This record gives sequence, structure tokens and C-alpha cells, in this order.
Amino acid sequence: MSDRITGTTVLTGLLGSPVAHSISPLMHNASFAALGLDYAYLCFDVGTDRLKEAVEGLRAMGARGWNLTMPDKNLMCQLADKLSPASEISGAVNTIVNDDGVLTGYTTDGTGYMRAAEEAGFPLPGKVMTLLGGGGAATAILVQAALDGMKEIRVFNRKSPTFDRLSAIAGQLNRRTDCLVTVHPLEDTEDLRASIADSDILTNATNIGMAPHTDACPIPDASFLRPELIVSDIIYNPRQTKLLQMAKETGCPFFNGLYMLLYQGAASFELWTGREMPVELIKEKYFAE
Ligand code: NAP
Repeated sequence: MSDRITGTTVLTGLLGSPVAHSISPLMHNASFAALGLDYAYLCFDVGTDRLKEAVEGLRAMGARGWNLTMPDKNLMCQLADKLSPASEISGAVNTIVNDDGVLTGYTTDGTGYMRAAEEAGFPLPGKVMTLLGGGGAATAILVQAALDGMKEIRVFNRKSPTFDRLSAIAGQLNRRTDCLVTVHPLEDTEDLRASIADSDILTNATNIGMAPHTDACPIPDASFLRPELIVSDIIYNPRQTKLLQMAKETGCPFFNGLYMLLYQGAASFELWTGREMPVELIKEKYFAE
């Protein structure tokens, strides 16, 4: 790295708290090096209390762009000068592009999910999805999938403050896209069973099943699945959640969240550099299944 940093090196990075565990510096810096790009990616532990100052500093210093993780995604949406349609609807930004001091906000988690699904052999436009969860990642998937032409998305979330926020986003998507979006209580297991029964894909975007709670599963049992159903879990730790184990035993095609993580980063990389991330190299180095 030391001989790569010069007087002209372009700054990119990650703001959030915590950030020390992030894989993003590895994948971006390895990609810059592989393509011979004079860029560097650093992590900055900045919570919402100092986000505005940090953003003004990065803008003044001419950083090319940065990623945002929790808890900064929503506040960054208010600080950006312009927003992509997905950020405008979801109220969240995970990528900023700085064009001569003008900050445009994007959210690439949803595009990452769509590309991962396509690569797994399941292009989603025209399909019906049952989506579990309504937090940041679920919202990003919901919004992008609707913008990209899914036929119908039924979102299930427990009755919590998230529910009303989701209903408002569903209203916007129903007005602005041809996708039919409905929001349902996760507690209504018969409604959930009926929804899964005529969906093409079931997507878990809740925390349920994430390490260390690997025995937990967002659906009551395997009778909710059938072999034709595509099952995806955006959790990547563990690689195979209890839901995905159930899917495997039922004979369903399935995929985990690993490549969503890769492709959200690849989309940011392309926005900053105009170049494609060398994803095969990055998979080999950091995303072994
Ligand atoms: P988040 O904003 O905190 O949302 C969590 C969601 O899970 C909310 O809908 C929450 O419901 C629901 N939930 C949590 N515990 C639950 C329980 N016991 N019963 C029912 N619902 C429950 O988190 P996030 O950022 O969206 O992340 C969600 C998951 O996605 C995490 O496992 C994370 O690791 C994974 N993720 C993966 C990627 C990737 O690139 N593959 C990217 C981002 C996130 P309430 O709203 O009611 O609390």
C-alpha cells in the first residue's frame, strides 16, 4: 500500500459506527490496486452526532465519495444535495458521489441484491416475492425490486413502529411503479403461508438466524416451503442459515447474502471510478463460500 499512496491519490471511504469490522476497505483497495487506479479507501468511525461536520470536511477536501453504514444512512439522505430515485423513496443513502462539491446519494444494497439473484440464476423482474423484514436492508431490496419491475412484493414485518413506515413506502411504490406492494403482519402465519405458497421467491431480510442466534428461523417450519420456491437469505454469517438448511432439505434452489455484499460494493466502486470492480478476483480473495 505505501508505494500506492501519492500526492494525487483520490480519497474514498466508509462512515459509520462501528466500522472496524468492515470488509469494504479490503475489497475496494484490492480492486484499485488490481486496476492501477490512484484511489484509496479508509474507514472513519463517525456516528450521527458528527456526521454533518465529517461530510463538510470530505466535501471541502474533494473526496470522490464514500459509503455510509449504520447509524448514518438516514441522516446522510438529508445532507445530500441530490438523491437517486431509490434513495428518495427509501430515505436512506449508502453511497455518496462527490462531483465538484455536489453530493449525490445512492443506495446500492438493493442493486446488489438484484445482481446477486440474477447471478444465482434467478432474474426477478416479473416475479412475485414474499419479503420478510422491513429494516434498512429489506427496504433497499423492496424499493429496488419494485423499481426494477417485479410484479408483486408482499412484505411481512412484525407489528412495530417499522410497520407504519413500511406502509408509507408501499404507498409511494404503488403510485410510482407498476409493482403491487402490500404490507402484512409477520405474526399472521396463515397469511404468510398463503403468500409463500404462490410466490416465486421467499427472501429473508430480518436479523432472524444471524450469528450467534443460528437456531432461529423466520418461518415456523418447512411445511411453508415447496421445491419450486426460490429461497434467499441476505444473512451471510452463517453462510447457511436455518432457513437455507430447510430450503436445501426441501429441494428448493437457494442463495445467501454473500454476493449481495459484494455487488453493493461493486456498484459503489463503479459510481466513483466509472470502472467495473474485478469481482472474480475479489470473490477469490475475500468471498470464499
Ligand atoms: P435492521 O434495519 O435492524 O432491520 C432488521 C429487521 O429484522 C427489522 O425488520 C426487524 O423488525 C426484523 N427483526 C429483527 N429481529 C426480529 C425478530 N426477533 N422477530 C421479527 N422480526 C425481527 O437491520 P438491517 O440492516 O436491515 O439488516 C438485517 C439483516 O440483513 C442482518 O442480518 C444483516 O446482517 C443483513 N444484511 C445483509 C446485507 C448483505 O449485503 N448481504 C446488507 C445489509 C444487511 P422491527 O423493525 O420490527 O424491529
